[in-house]
Amino acid sequence: MGVQSPSLQSSLFTLFILSFSLSLSAACEMGFYKPVAGNGLCGKCPHHSHSETRAALSCPCDSNYYRAADDPPAAPCSRPPSAPVNVISSVNGTSVNLEWDRPQDTGGRSDLKYSVLCQKCSGEGGPCGDCASSPGGAGGGKAGGGASASVGGMVERLGTAAVRFVPRQTGLTEPWVTVLNLVAHTNYSFRLLAMNAVTHLSNEPSTYALVNITTNQAAPSEVMEIRQQNTSQNSVILLWHEPNQPNGVILEYDIKYYEKENEAHSYSTLKSKNTSARVSGLKPGTKYIFQVRARTSAGCGDFSQNVEIQTGKAAPLRYNTMTIIWICMALVSGLVTFLAIFICRKRQGYTLPHYPSLLHCGYSKAFQDSDEEKMHYQNGHVSFPDARFYIDPHTYEDPCQAVHEFAREIEASRIKIEKIIGSGEFGEVCYGRMRLPGKRDIPVALKTLKAGYTEKQKRDFLAEASIMAQFDHPNVIRLEGVVTQSKPAMIITEYMENGSLDSFLRRHDGQFTVIQLVGLLRGIAAGMTYLSDLGYIHRDLAARNILVNSNLVCKVSDFGLSRVLEDDPDAAYTTSVSFHIEGGKIPIRWTAPEAIAFRKFSSSSDVWSYGVVMWEVTSYGERPYWNLTNRDVIKSVEEGYRLPAPMGCPGPLHTLMLDCWQKDRNERPRFCQIVTVLDKLIRNPENLKSMDTLCSLNSPPLMERAIPDFSSCNSVNDWLDTIKMSRYKDHFAAGGYQTLGHVISMNQG
Ligand code: AMP
Repeated sequence: MGVQSPSLQSSLFTLFILSFSLSLSAACEMGFYKPVAGNGLCGKCPHHSHSETRAALSCPCDSNYYRAADDPPAAPCSRPPSAPVNVISSVNGTSVNLEWDRPQDTGGRSDLKYSVLCQKCSGEGGPCGDCASSPGGAGGGKAGGGASASVGGMVERLGTAAVRFVPRQTGLTEPWVTVLNLVAHTNYSFRLLAMNAVTHLSNEPSTYALVNITTNQAAPSEVMEIRQQNTSQNSVILLWHEPNQPNGVILEYDIKYYEKENEAHSYSTLKSKNTSARVSGLKPGTKYIFQVRARTSAGCGDFSQNVEIQTGKAAPLRYNTMTIIWICMALVSGLVTFLAIFICRKRQGYTLPHYPSLLHCGYSKAFQDSDEEKMHYQNGHVSFPDARFYIDPHTYEDPCQAVHEFAREIEASRIKIEKIIGSGEFGEVCYGRMRLPGKRDIPVALKTLKAGYTEKQKRDFLAEASIMAQFDHPNVIRLEGVVTQSKPAMIITEYMENGSLDSFLRRHDGQFTVIQLVGLLRGIAAGMTYLSDLGYIHRDLAARNILVNSNLVCKVSDFGLSRVLEDDPDAAYTTSVSFHIEGGKIPIRWTAPEAIAFRKFSSSSDVWSYGVVMWEVTSYGERPYWNLTNRDVIKSVEEGYRLPAPMGCPGPLHTLMLDCWQKDRNERPRFCQIVTVLDKLIRNPENLKSMDTLCSLNSPPLMERAIPDFSSCNSVNDWLDTIKMSRYKDHFAAGGYQTLGHVISMNQG
């Protein structure tokens, strides 16, 4: 290429500049835009926008796409996100935890946020209203409750428990929320919306994920507005209102009081069935602090705010000699009368009633003595001479405090771990020996908390100890103490040589007499009578959760609150679609239909489970409903089918099972009645002998459904193998059941 002259070079440059300026000032084509007319370059319309004419200065968004106020013109248009997906809810008493996945369509933006709308619904399919506005919804809107305030995104209503959303109700950046302070035993509906910066620009109705839940029982809310009346030198009358959210029938109120100057040393409590109490025996001219809390079968509510009351000053005593003589005479005659009554009763063999015998069936009847009774707490140590109601440790603000209130701390050096015997939800279960000062060493079972636990896991782990520590019955596993001050944390219980009942029965298949089996069942029923009288609902009563000691005494165990949801291999997830349950795991084969469908757990649902335990015991650890799927179990039970009597099971025992499996929970016997029936059978063993009552079923047996491969079986033995009942081959042969036809007609008989 030759060298150009300087004049040619300068004209080429001028031509280039001219053509460049022409292109800059040219109008943009369709699909392109230039924000300012002039020399700028044309840009392509961003995603989901367009320009329908030439020389466009901007690209408007396609229909249903938007640009947020902060979006630059060069930003693509976007749209609202679709609804969140895969919502999982887990109800815990009166709170619910909701978790979900990101929407499938984020609308082309990354500024995704979530909001929760909460509605409280009256009854099944009844109308729903906003949680916050419905009475009792946002804390029940207590009169005088005070102003509403929004603190850190959580709705708070001063002085009363409002529905709370943690971390907040709107503008959630993480896909979860916990909703607290809902009303017990109530249906709620939650709508989960995903939003972004263009959601408010769209006229389309927002899509949402819907979750329906039913809350469970909960302790009552705080007692408010305590007033005093007639304060004298030695006594005061207190009055208060029923808590805003009783969440059940209030069984009693605890009144706690102590001298203001003396809090650390001791405090006393008084119980009252009414919303008033007379506190007597106070010191004159002394300041006292009073607090009141309500108690239902679900546990205790929080104590009220402190109320300070000063008793009246003592007037100087001015007794004349005559008055003193009268007082002395009255005291002496009182003492003589007391001694006379005492000696007389001793002669008649009268003893003070022992606690369990005082209790009758049902909670309300537990109150057959005086309205008010005193319990003393000294130096922070509590004795429970009259403990009548189980206290849910989760009603404590700090559940770790509960464990130390109920259970004794044991130094780790007092324990020698010898071997691992099983594995629990939180870690290994070991056998070991414990030696307390001045005592012989005793065998113990040690449940350990595995390393790397979370704070919540530790709380749940220790909650079981707090629950167990409140029980004292020969058929309920006994807590020896806890180790919390060193690692690993441990729960120490009495050692049960024969382990869990289900495996024990399987190991000893066919080796017990009917009377022995009824004896095992009687023990379990006695333990459950005690627990239900205390208001404790087990929820996972099954042979695997009963322990057996070397004397064949059965003891109810497994009181972990979370185990039903997490631990139990027989627990199954259920879905709202089929059974109105959100999240959570339930041991379907052992659980009453109303507890599966509506989470209505009660002592009556425990009775249903007890019926299944009876079946497990009389079939030597057979799996209830054999190989039926959980779904089929639910369907069959709902259609009225019930487990047939196991081979060799006497008719009266099966009749009792069927009573436990009454659809209407009010028709089921109570545990104390079950104990009575079993006692009668033990006393009259001839009723247990008759084998021919074996299949006298009141309701149809679990027919072909329970035996899915019936048609594919060629013989009775084949069929027995299929349903894992081979051990009954001889019984069937001896009974003349040689063909499947015979078996079918036996079932229908
Ligand atoms: P758990 O976590 O209570 O279900 O316990 C797990 C397993 O450890 C049980 O199935 C029993 O085999 C065993 N186990 C638990 N507690 C005891 C005990 N007190 N005595 C003997 N074995 C126990």
